[in-house]
Amino acid sequence: MKKILVIDDSSVTRRKVKTALGEEFHVVEAVNGNDGIAKAKIKKDLSLIISDHNMPGEFNGLQMVKEIRNIDHHKMTPIFMFSSETALVPYY
Ligand SMILES: [Mg+2]
Repeated sequence: MKKILVIDDSSVTRRKVKTALGEEFHVVEAVNGNDGIAKAKIKKDLSLIISDHNMPGEFNGLQMVKEIRNIDHHKMTPIFMFSSETALVPYY
């Protein structure tokens, strides 16, 4: 079963994403950037990472992605980010 890491500070949104993904994926949840980084470090076999942009705490979504890209086994893992913001500064 493919494993997907879903990161959002909103439990309601995490549940919605999980429901949308359906039964055929194993969803691992993380509640903020720090948690997302920690879970990404221990879960080497993620097929996809789905994350919110706006999260409280040390890392917002983009800062968290930068950290996750520094983890050897997630250099190439696809990352999908969503936000309710109407304007976001592109990340390079
Ligand atoms: Mg949020």
